[in-house]
Amino acid sequence: MLDFSSLLLAAALSGICLSITMFAIWFTAPQARFVLTVACGILVLVAHVVAFWHYTREPSPWLCQAALALLSLGFLIISLSAMQYLGIRGYRRAVLPTMVAMAACAAVTVLGFDGAGFIVTYATVTALLASIGVMFWMKGGHDRRILLVVSGLSGVCGLSFGLCGAVLLVKGQWVLGVAPDNWAERLNSVVAVACMTALGALTLSLHHLQAQIELKAETMTDPLTGLMNRRALNSLYGERVFGPFMSIAMFDLDHFKRTNDVYGHPVGDRVLCRFAAIIKKYDRVGVDAFRLGGEEFALVMSRMPQDKAHDLASKIGVAFGTEVVPTQRGPLRSSVSGGIGFGEAEGSSLEDVLAEADKALYAAKHAGRNRVLVLDRASKAEKPALRLA
Ligand code: GH3
Ligand code: MG
Ligand code: MG
Repeated sequence: MLDFSSLLLAAALSGICLSITMFAIWFTAPQARFVLTVACGILVLVAHVVAFWHYTREPSPWLCQAALALLSLGFLIISLSAMQYLGIRGYRRAVLPTMVAMAACAAVTVLGFDGAGFIVTYATVTALLASIGVMFWMKGGHDRRILLVVSGLSGVCGLSFGLCGAVLLVKGQWVLGVAPDNWAERLNSVVAVACMTALGALTLSLHHLQAQIELKAETMTDPLTGLMNRRALNSLYGERVFGPFMSIAMFDLDHFKRTNDVYGHPVGDRVLCRFAAIIKKYDRVGVDAFRLGGEEFALVMSRMPQDKAHDLASKIGVAFGTEVVPTQRGPLRSSVSGGIGFGEAEGSSLEDVLAEADKALYAAKHAGRNRVLVLDRASKAEKPALRLA
């Protein structure tokens, strides 16, 4: 037979240790705010355990109120931390219903129906834990395995609270006067301690996972323009087979060295950002924009016929040609040259398509710049395409 007091003491101690670990982690990595939120949530639950322990020894309506309010509040904070981690906005959707439930619990408990107060609180906690389970289940993008374990543990924990409420409901115990004591309560005290300890420990894994994802995103992003970089291009398309409906347009700003020399490097950076903003406008499903380095950019177009791909690349060139960058030496207009490479029916590699696009770009520069060219592969000659100026 389990000693209930020892269990509560173990829960409080493990909760305090977990939250101290999390506060320490947050201290060294303050950007991981969800770790701080989980630590606060666990501390509130520890406060609940202490209040509940007192209530089991000396039942009083106020201790009952405090214990129930702390239980709902603790799980509300934990569910907010889950939203924070998963980047789900609209905290009000969790806060408002929980506040209403807490007010309802307080009202019925004050009227003497403490059993009903327990039922309302258990239902609230079950709903909060179920919502955590659903959020992690639905949002599992990166490492699904950890997220599914979190989802499962939240579900089991929610179920055990749900059972406690269901037993009181079935027995019609609206008025208790003491802490409820039945098989579901005893089961819940074991399940909740185990699940919450495991969930707390998993928070540390989630923190590591998030740090890894952020680091990977950073190594794949060009810091000046925010576009994906060449590493990202290789990672996304290095292994892909390019068919005839896949193409790459390579762009190189014209006389950019002169822009830097005449207007200065900071103005050059602004011009690069302007071009990035234009190319980004066309970044959508099936179209990915990259800064390859320096003043060279690439647009990978999937599931797009060759004439459409050419139109799109030409539109970008025209749009950039009409951009005016205000500078201290007066308005600055620039132009860009582009070349497009297409995949073959039998399949081409990223290198093949990039090489063809590069050749077409070279031809565009030689033909006088400010244009997008496509190589006529049948005759191996350049086919002059739309002039942009
Ligand atoms: P072309 O029309 O033949 O392409 O001539 P270009 O002057 O654009 O080509 P070139 O390769 O000679 O010069 C590219 C310049 O781009 C040289 C380099 O200083 C500049 N550049 C590379 N990266 C950056 C950057 O991040 N910011 C700025 N402002 N300039 C950069
Ligand atoms: Mg260049
Ligand atoms: Mg250039």
